[in-house]
Amino acid sequence: MADEINNSFDSTPVVLLIDDSKFVHRILGARLRSESISLIGEPDGKAGYERAVADQPELILLDLDMPVMDGYETLRVLKEDPKTRDIPVIVLSGMDSSQDKVMAFDLGAVDFVTKPFELTELRARVRSSLKMSTLLRMLAQKAKIDGLSGLYNRAYFDERLQEEYDRAIRHGHSMSIAMIDLDEFKSINDTYGHPAGDMVISGIASVIQQECRSIDVACRYGGEEFVLIMPETNPEQAFTLCNRIRERCAQMSWSQHPNRAVTLSVGVVGADDGSTISCTPQAWVEMSDRNLYQAKQSGRNRVIASSVDGTSIQVAKAG
Ligand SMILES: [Mg+2]
Repeated sequence: MADEINNSFDSTPVVLLIDDSKFVHRILGARLRSESISLIGEPDGKAGYERAVADQPELILLDLDMPVMDGYETLRVLKEDPKTRDIPVIVLSGMDSSQDKVMAFDLGAVDFVTKPFELTELRARVRSSLKMSTLLRMLAQKAKIDGLSGLYNRAYFDERLQEEYDRAIRHGHSMSIAMIDLDEFKSINDTYGHPAGDMVISGIASVIQQECRSIDVACRYGGEEFVLIMPETNPEQAFTLCNRIRERCAQMSWSQHPNRAVTLSVGVVGADDGSTISCTPQAWVEMSDRNLYQAKQSGRNRVIASSVDGTSIQVAKAG
């Protein structure tokens, strides 16, 4: 583990320094102290990447010339992983060729500082990157969220589905998705008015959010339809999760219509081993839609799950 200088103010931004030089850790630790940031450090790219995933720093300072995994490779890995790709990276390098700079920028670095660095300049760059990072995070967060439900929106779903899909294939992980649709929702709007309908959307969304684990991605697909991406989850586990959501929603009481329960139908599709997936993410959405349609046709308030090869796994009926 590299030197660690932690200014220990909880609200201060965390900056991760990935550099194999103890000297750089020491000097930046001393010189950035006045910047009210919390500086954490790792001595190589692999440890740095893992630390970035775990600690989610606001900014990364990355050396290029390092053992184990060099700066370019580290940058590539950081930018490939959805968990770290939005963290701005300033490259610190003893190499000063424009080719190095171009490559670093192409790989997604926000800035490039040549060693030995002028510390006043580095401080200013850190400050401006942090400011930009805060604004970008706020904007990005807003652009991903559906206003009524507080869940992720459709655009974010499309983006994450492709990413999680690629990851499942690459690592041979299991993965499932679920389409969730409220039963006879139109009649709630028609009978009790649209504000009551909106309360149902946000109420159901909060149950979904509570039941989902931190790895799941819960989105509002549109209207009264929701969709879940469940990484590293096989269809049977996905079935269990969705059935819990179904049960909890059916038991909820609604102040605006205490005698009218709200139920939902769910279509799940998944794979035990991502390396065997051959169809497109769009085909998954269509298959889960078909299972959802089946759930509706066979009486609503139920979950129908199947694996990607089409083998039916479990069918849950209401009550
Ligand atoms: Mg180095």
